[in-house]
Amino acid sequence: MPEGAVIPALDAPVSSLKGIGPARARALAAAGISDVQDLLLHVPRRHRERLAPVAVRDLVAGARAAIVGAVERVRASRRGRRSLVRVLVADESGAIEVLFFNQHHLKSNFARGETFFFQGRVGERDGVRSLLAEDYERSGALAAPLRAGRVPVYDLPAGVPPRLFRRLIAGLLPALAPGTPDWRARSALPAAGLPSLGAALAALHFPASEEDLAQARRRFAYEEFFRILLPLERARATLGRRVKPRRVAPEPQEVATMLAALPFALTAAQRRALDEVLADLARFSPMHRLLHGDVGSGKTAVALVALAAAARAGHQGALLVPTDVLARQHLATARRFLEPLGVEVELLARTCAAAERKSARSLLSGGAPCVVVGTHALLSASVEIPALALAVVDEQHRFGVSQRARLRSKGVAVDLLVMTATPIPRSLAMTLYGDLDLSLLDELPPGRRVVATRRAPRTELRAVLEEVRADVLRGGRAFIVCPVVGGSEESDLAAAVTFAAKLARFYGGQPAVGLAHGRRRPEENRAALEDFRSGERPVLVATVVVEAGVDVPEATLMVVLDAQRFGLAALHELRGRVGRGRAPAQCILVAGEGSPEANARLDVLVAEANGFKIAEEDLRLRGPGELYGARQHGLLDLCHADLVRDLDLLALARADARRVVESGRDAGLEPHLPRLASVMEAPSCEPGPG
Ligand code: ADP
Ligand code: MG
Repeated sequence: MPEGAVIPALDAPVSSLKGIGPARARALAAAGISDVQDLLLHVPRRHRERLAPVAVRDLVAGARAAIVGAVERVRASRRGRRSLVRVLVADESGAIEVLFFNQHHLKSNFARGETFFFQGRVGERDGVRSLLAEDYERSGALAAPLRAGRVPVYDLPAGVPPRLFRRLIAGLLPALAPGTPDWRARSALPAAGLPSLGAALAALHFPASEEDLAQARRRFAYEEFFRILLPLERARATLGRRVKPRRVAPEPQEVATMLAALPFALTAAQRRALDEVLADLARFSPMHRLLHGDVGSGKTAVALVALAAAARAGHQGALLVPTDVLARQHLATARRFLEPLGVEVELLARTCAAAERKSARSLLSGGAPCVVVGTHALLSASVEIPALALAVVDEQHRFGVSQRARLRSKGVAVDLLVMTATPIPRSLAMTLYGDLDLSLLDELPPGRRVVATRRAPRTELRAVLEEVRADVLRGGRAFIVCPVVGGSEESDLAAAVTFAAKLARFYGGQPAVGLAHGRRRPEENRAALEDFRSGERPVLVATVVVEAGVDVPEATLMVVLDAQRFGLAALHELRGRVGRGRAPAQCILVAGEGSPEANARLDVLVAEANGFKIAEEDLRLRGPGELYGARQHGLLDLCHADLVRDLDLLALARADARRVVESGRDAGLEPHLPRLASVMEAPSCEPGPG
């Protein structure tokens, strides 16, 4: 056994195994299986259920059953092109003939006195029962796992008997008992709920249950991610030798003080994300982190605590947002939270009064500890933030890489936190290739309501509008989002303006209708939103300007017109604008033409509330076209990992790769990693029962 090997005799050639002669070794080599490790990493195409053996006496005609017994006699006969092998098998309770049709070559497989497992269907003719064989296996001690439960079925090259292959694997596995140290233990990584490599391998081939197999798959999904991320982390460690001139490392007492200033307790997911961010702030290498959480998962609170920590430690923090409306909203939230903590909050946006802007700028350029909330105005070259320690970019998909870089360049080795609710594949690709760590908010704050969602045909628009009226007269607030028309902002805007005018006439002033869109002056949009919040104009006609982060807990109804023109992620984001308060909330997707496919897409939203699941479904419906970019990056070479489902493993693999690189324990690690490349290239890459 090579020293410290993951798998005993890992690199022993397959030809050293009993039953593999030169011809079979060649056949296996052609399929990419050269040594013991390749063999063990050959993923079963599916599993076949083996029944628990019963006594021969208890066999019931017509049923499928399994027996274990000794061979008493073998007879083979041919009639024309048909052949029959009859094996008489006996156990203590009795004897039965096991029949093999058209498998003449089997006759020499069964030696008298040897014990075998047989499975098949019990037949009966003239009162004599027989077993029509579907499956058999020599029943030695070594083959124990082959006798009952799930048995692997492999894709194998011609000339390699499946039984031999299974037997070889079953023989190798006991040496890989769950206790066998694997590279993660060797690298001092905590178990993190993953099975050991040995246990995962055993379960991959011979799972005790569906769950067992799922856990094995998770371990190998993790392995795939780890292999991709390790070199990236090494590169990053080299690049990122930039050293921060400061460290923000709040004591637990300080963290408690800041958390106490929030109007709510953080969810477990928020707390986890915050701890990850704080750990980054305390490091000397700059943070590059993506905070990824579904709409309404509470990303803002995490960012604000981190900003508070930076400012209270004497540095400056910046929160960059895409719209003026959002900047004002965050400003209000930030002030409420941060001012009691003695942190000053400034605003820099297009709409700031000249005096306001001037004072903000001079405060910033003087290096005074504070937090600034701003739009693109923040990026202007004339804005100096010399003590910038932490830059947070909200709704990061609205910003380009160069804008992020520009904000960062205002300080020295600035920590960067970007936030988004956009589901994969974009952000996933970014995580893999775009130098970003991932923190996941996979939990919504308590009391969040599921937004009842339904589809309504365009012909029922009047009824929907009456429903809107009834809802707001009961004290609700309704957004009505106008369609994306031909993709240009002007035409979208025209649609919204026209519709708002029509709607105002339709309602005759009761209720009053407001209007918000991207081309209105920000203060007008702000006023419209304020009127909406206060109930002065409880119906707000808007373009997707309300999509980004708008937080009005009073909002109860979201109506989207021509909903089929929006992407599912955008619709999910829009829907996330309601259901933030105490009252029940609704979302009505008004769809025009309604092709069956378009309706099927919208029905995903009707049925599903989870943004990640929606993204998954969206990907599925849109087909591989969307994934093509990912394929080019080699992402689809993943055999075990699922880009949607295994996002948490990606985060874990990255954290682990970081850890081993930072501690220098990555040196010489490769030989200890399972060579999953061979799995990925294998044509049989389709784990699990099929
Ligand atoms: P998003 O992740 O979409 O940016 P926000 O940060 O806007 O979400 O938060 C959504 C809403 O949830 C806000 O009204 C916020 O005050 C509230 N919220 C956030 N965290 C919590 C929490 N832990 N408990 C209760 N409410 C919370
Ligand atoms: Mg937000």
